[in-house]
Amino acid sequence: MKTTLTPVATHCPYCSLQCGITLQAEPPADEDLLERPVVTLAAQEDFPTNRGGLCAKGWTAADLLHHPERLTEPLVRDRGEELRPATWDEALDRIAAAFLDAQSRYGRNGVGLFGGGSLTNEKAYQFGKFARVTLRTAMIDYNGRFCMSSAANAATRAFGIDRGLPFPLSDLAEADAVMLVGSNLADTMPPAVQFLEAARSRGARHIVIDPRVTATARRAHLHLQPVPGTDLALANGMMNVAVREGLINTEYINDRTTGFEAVRRVVRTYWPDRVERITGVPEGDLVRTVRILAGAKRAMILTARGAEQHASGSDTALSYINLALALGLPGCPASGYGTITGQGNGQGGREHGQKADQLPGYRRLDDPLARAHVARVWGINPDDLPRTGLSAYELLDALGTPDGVRALWVMGSNVVVSAPRATHVTRRLEALDFLLVSDFFLSETAALADVVLPSTQWAEEDGTMTNLEGRVILRKAALPPPSGVRSDLWVMRELAARLGRPPLSDVPHEIFEELRRASAGGKADYAGISYERIEAEGGVFWPCPSKGHPGTPRLFTVDFPTPGRLARFHPVEQQGPAETPDKDYPYYLSTGRLLRHYQSGTQTRRVKALNESEPEAVVEMHDTLANRIGVETGDLVRLSTRRGTAVMRVRSGCSIRPDTVFASFHYGGMGAVNQLTNPVLDPNSGMPEFKACAVALDRVELQEDPIMVTARRRGANRAR
Ligand code: SF4
Repeated sequence: MKTTLTPVATHCPYCSLQCGITLQAEPPADEDLLERPVVTLAAQEDFPTNRGGLCAKGWTAADLLHHPERLTEPLVRDRGEELRPATWDEALDRIAAAFLDAQSRYGRNGVGLFGGGSLTNEKAYQFGKFARVTLRTAMIDYNGRFCMSSAANAATRAFGIDRGLPFPLSDLAEADAVMLVGSNLADTMPPAVQFLEAARSRGARHIVIDPRVTATARRAHLHLQPVPGTDLALANGMMNVAVREGLINTEYINDRTTGFEAVRRVVRTYWPDRVERITGVPEGDLVRTVRILAGAKRAMILTARGAEQHASGSDTALSYINLALALGLPGCPASGYGTITGQGNGQGGREHGQKADQLPGYRRLDDPLARAHVARVWGINPDDLPRTGLSAYELLDALGTPDGVRALWVMGSNVVVSAPRATHVTRRLEALDFLLVSDFFLSETAALADVVLPSTQWAEEDGTMTNLEGRVILRKAALPPPSGVRSDLWVMRELAARLGRPPLSDVPHEIFEELRRASAGGKADYAGISYERIEAEGGVFWPCPSKGHPGTPRLFTVDFPTPGRLARFHPVEQQGPAETPDKDYPYYLSTGRLLRHYQSGTQTRRVKALNESEPEAVVEMHDTLANRIGVETGDLVRLSTRRGTAVMRVRSGCSIRPDTVFASFHYGGMGAVNQLTNPVLDPNSGMPEFKACAVALDRVELQEDPIMVTARRRGANRAR
């Protein structure tokens, strides 16, 4: 029977902009010949974050749906053998037996779950419930810990709530000054640049802080290019200038905040000349920046991973929040502080229970009232809820150890490529008794698994996402999945039954209705949001505590959701990266994203147009540095840190500091930059220090086999 499919308004599967797209799937000409539907994709002209724009990833997203490498049946591994196809019954029986075995031998925490920031709200919620109710394990965390956790921690401490942008993205067009700290919007979210361009066209001024001369920095009025890991000193220096020049907003500080005096004392020592010595940013640029921000009628400070993915990332985010508060910005029209979320559901994925310390509605697992509320919704005794588990890297680091997780389920994450110190994480995965991976493709992590389950993709199932603005949107199924593919929700339902645990729904709409009740009264309150409202209104901003509530596009306009209704300053000091260059590892390595790839590249490396454009790992370096180590664009270079080595193609130019190299984290194998990164963690957030470590560089001479590389260490490497 032919399937008749009408155009469906839905959203891009990748980043947190969640651009609106329309999918039209034409039925195959002859289903008996197993032909595939032809899927065409268009940008929605009226969706507020993209307004007709898409980036190269969005335009090619339909290529993923019927990709020849798509997993379409479960795979299982017999001892010591290759993965082989299996029936769903065989795969599910194996998983249930492995989970029961691990828990009988090692206790409930012998089984762990690792989720992802791209899962729908329904999946993230159900994954958390599966951990706490079905398995009763404390061991659940997710890859968003590697993305948003520092900014989330800082915003919660300062404002009492964590919503990436506390205003609609379109407010950027109304701001007279915007400072972007460690964000390259032009490459990571091209459609969002239209709001900055609209502001510039009416005279707004933009400042970018980034060690690289990115596409975003090139468009800015002022580009500050600090040493990696010194953003906090820069913010404290700006605060020093603001205080000394009388540019702070005393009335706002008195009326709406608490704790300013402690910050004023701390920043006294951050004189611009001292800050210039720490950061490399000229004193004059520091002063100009503060005057631009303070002189603007409407100003915004936005941080992203460049500032946040450090061992002091939460303090760094706090330092920029301090500056925003001192200038009187949060809660004022087209003004404030925000953090730019990365993953597609980076916001919703951190609100509903797949974090080690969290219950749905952004409730804390260690809060007795929160435990009682969620336990009531789940029909269990609050005492039966597990306690707080380990953060993402801590969980991975302990895999297979006597006290660690022995059977792990990874859903929608590729930790072999995306976790810091990735070679070590791979060893830990290999030490497990049992590894289950749910994904669309055989990712590097799935290739290690004992069982691999093929999951439905974005266009094949209903589910809500929460974008970078806190707008809850609906991704609607536009076409059926390939036969043999199942939703992760269905898998959780089947496993709960096999494990003899309370039944779970696999209907997204039903799960969302339960999520609404579980989140009611929490910080991220979805009680008044429904699929019907989202469709009718084009998305609803949380908090939305009741059906009649309009949602909350702008936070903090009246007060802050802290106990005293005031925003809180936090005195923070520059600490710098845990590892700085020395004679053996003479340069900084920083990591980030490219325009044409997303996360670990599991999806985008399989899209022909994207992969042809950026087919291999590249290390970006300044011409001066390239000359010093004797390489030029196109050569291969070996990067070595105290954790491991990687080999990448050189791209040399003048768009990065001469003491720093940059590599993207989208590639596996020899080009996987996370073999090099430092897993030292932020004590407040559990964020690893992805953005700065010390690295040595050697030119590589390739022999016949590219694995057999010989490297020639140059004396210049040691003579920095
Ligand atoms: Fe998709 Fe993000 Fe590109 Fe929009 S900007 S098309 S959401 S990847």
